[in-house]
Amino acid sequence: PIANMTLMSLTILAFSHIYEITREQSERKLLKLAQTDPLTGLANRARLSDVFEQERKRSLRQGVPLSLLLLDLDHFKQVNDRHGHEAGDLALTHVARLLRQSLRATDLATRVGGEEFAILLNDTSADQALRVANKVRQAIEAHPMYYNDQQIPLTVSGGIAQFGRDGGDLQGLISRADECLYQAKDAGRNRILVYVPAPAG
Ligand code: GH3
Ligand code: MG
Ligand code: MG
Repeated sequence: PIANMTLMSLTILAFSHIYEITREQSERKLLKLAQTDPLTGLANRARLSDVFEQERKRSLRQGVPLSLLLLDLDHFKQVNDRHGHEAGDLALTHVARLLRQSLRATDLATRVGGEEFAILLNDTSADQALRVANKVRQAIEAHPMYYNDQQIPLTVSGGIAQFGRDGGDLQGLISRADECLYQAKDAGRNRILVYVPAPAG
């Protein structure tokens, strides 16, 4: 009977262990799903908030810079109007692919709105972020998308804000980057601007 009891206890233990592992796996899958944009497969705003929180702490602890780049497709309404909504959706996945190809594995590219992307660049100052952003911008300009044998040129405008210098939280940085983005649109689009902090005093 003792051997029987032991065997039974071990069996129960084994099964509850397996249950625990599959539960954890399901939880991870659900979290991943909740933090992914279904159209482009990029991370979404929820993931941006999570990663920003980690990187914000790391930036403070290690004294490394952290920058946020906001990109918005130029005249994107025209793409939909001229070629249809499906072409618009394909353009968004096309841009998402170019973002993945042009960025480092540690950069976080996210889709935060209809045709707006936020990219979190760790260990990167605003000036360094400008170089990265221009590389991305040029890649998008150099790789038009093709739809029904038609070439559809795409460009983006962008704004950059640096953590600490330009804002202490994600919403603050997004607002600063958005101000630059707006100025970039005003200045003729297909360009990136860095936030200029107001002089002290
Ligand atoms: P601007 O250069 O000033 O940014 O002009 P715009 O036309 O890109 O800007 P606007 O904000 O006027 O229009 C954005 C358009 O993006 C509206 C909508 O047609 C399109 N859009 C937003 N989300 C999606 C999406 O998920 N799929 C598709 N196909 N189009 C989208
Ligand atoms: Mg927009
Ligand atoms: Mg736009």
